[in-house]
Amino acid sequence: MARYTASVCRLCRRSGEKLGLKGSRCLTAKCPIDKRGKPQGRQLGRRRLSDRGLQLREKQKARYTYGILERQFRRFFAQAERQSGITGDNLLVLMEKRLDNVVYRLGFADSRSQARQLVQHGHIMLNDHKTDIPSCLVKEGDTISWKQSSTKTEYYKQLIQDIEAKSVLSWLSLDRQNLVGQVLSLPTPEDIDAKFEGKSIVEYYSR
Ligand code: SF4
Repeated sequence: MARYTASVCRLCRRSGEKLGLKGSRCLTAKCPIDKRGKPQGRQLGRRRLSDRGLQLREKQKARYTYGILERQFRRFFAQAERQSGITGDNLLVLMEKRLDNVVYRLGFADSRSQARQLVQHGHIMLNDHKTDIPSCLVKEGDTISWKQSSTKTEYYKQLIQDIEAKSVLSWLSLDRQNLVGQVLSLPTPEDIDAKFEGKSIVEYYSR
């Protein structure tokens, strides 16, 4: 499966803001953006972006945030366009429903990329079935749990201790003793702390 392999901090610098792609590390003094005090990059630092450039930047921020490659992002966009309602909102909700994102939102991983790895390596069960497809979309009522053998790992044992300090969003519930999550309802755009503008993404693809 194709994926982005270079430094994700470069993606934040390219976007001109902190996207939080490395989990708790982003909150420490090690974050390069915090260290340098401002985003780096030729386009951001030296010239004003055109409308098209700004739209592209919003689209890239969405892709980077959810760790989605261009081809798959376009497929999501096409799906969002076919749905009724506001395309930008539909797109946001579609990305939020990805299994790797839900694993991240439940606090099972520190970042979406770590959540994607957990899914790809077969640690996660969706409705009691092993699912190793990070882009699979959850539905209302779905349960997300751990494969029995994965509960013996050091990672899991540490997570059981750390999970108390983590909060989950209102559209999810979490049984902290057994690390079983459930989708109570589908997310709405208001539930999502998006760092990008859906409207600009729609404009980008409308040309
Ligand atoms: Fe972005 Fe986190 Fe890297 Fe800072 S540490 S640049 S927020 S990924």
